[in-house]
Amino acid sequence: MAVQYKMKNLFTKKQYDKLNEYLQSAKQVAIITHTNPDGDAIGSSVALSFILKKLNIDSTVIVSNSFPEFLHWIDGSDKIAVYSKNRHEARNAIKTADLIFCLDFNSLSRIEILENIVRETTVPRILIDHHIEPANDFDLKFSYYPISSTSELVYRIGIKLLGTKMLPKNVAEALFCGMMTDSGAFSHSSSYPDFFKIIANLLDCGVEKDRVTHLVYDNFTENRMKLLGYALSKMTVLQECGTAYITLSREDLKKFDFQIGDTEGFVNYPLSIKGIVLSLLLVEKDDHIKMSIRSQGNFDVNKMARKHFHGGGHLNAAGGKMLCKYENCNTELEKIIKNYEKKLRGI
Ligand code: 5GP
Ligand code: MN
Repeated sequence: MAVQYKMKNLFTKKQYDKLNEYLQSAKQVAIITHTNPDGDAIGSSVALSFILKKLNIDSTVIVSNSFPEFLHWIDGSDKIAVYSKNRHEARNAIKTADLIFCLDFNSLSRIEILENIVRETTVPRILIDHHIEPANDFDLKFSYYPISSTSELVYRIGIKLLGTKMLPKNVAEALFCGMMTDSGAFSHSSSYPDFFKIIANLLDCGVEKDRVTHLVYDNFTENRMKLLGYALSKMTVLQECGTAYITLSREDLKKFDFQIGDTEGFVNYPLSIKGIVLSLLLVEKDDHIKMSIRSQGNFDVNKMARKHFHGGGHLNAAGGKMLCKYENCNTELEKIIKNYEKKLRGI
């Protein structure tokens, strides 16, 4: 006999009661997500905005900088207030809000330039996020780290608020995009039945899986594909440490007419090499070197990013920055990696 699988409740009645109380008096909501927004950040934020609309609550999604072209197909993404493009609009949307949702980050430092604007407000802040150890910056937290994505959390909260599992197709596609991208196209952070039950339900809501997958993953420009080839050709492999890393200078990026989002996903490729359990991508920016870090198994890159690279993230996917000169980053990085040699050999 088929067993009816019951979805686990992640949050308490008390949390939902408090959320409803906040929403009842909300007229204009700000939804803010992290700097360098990814598929989960944009998908979850836009979906929440549509869900609030169904509850007759107006909202604006605000981000500090632009997001990649391969996310522009998401319905509602054209309405996002991007601070780096229109400061006045973004600032105003935060200042006039009577409630602020913070999505897909665990500390206000992750919204960079927007942090001070948010700190100047006095309205309640609600966190919906899946990073460990959220900061004390929030009045109500829907925080659960052993889960695929913030989009999955927004799904779970959304169906509770709306009282139905049938979401409009545009909302379902935004959430599907977040769950797909944050799980590396279902390759990690998704090994539990509820994840696929939700995916199945999103398909019931009309998600065109093949179309969405195509829009996200088959959207390289010729330059981006050539930059990937170049990046892989200059990769350094430290076999004895099970590590591979790639560095890209501003010059490199210029040669390939770099557009925001072009290096997204590059950090995953070295993990396909046999024996490689740690992969790092270092990209030179104006005043720092942006890092993306990925691992296999139990090598904790969140801890590594927090300890050495002013960053954080998850067990197997994290980010941060190096503050040294680009010319010295190889040496600096290899020094740090050497400390982990024993651990990395053991995986
Ligand atoms: P990505 O490498 O795709 O930029 O980021 C991977 C993960 O690390 C994401 O979950 C992201 O939230 C986190 N992350 C990326 N950059 C930073 C950072 O500078 N600080 C912190 N705390 N987390 C980061
Ligand atoms: Mn996420």
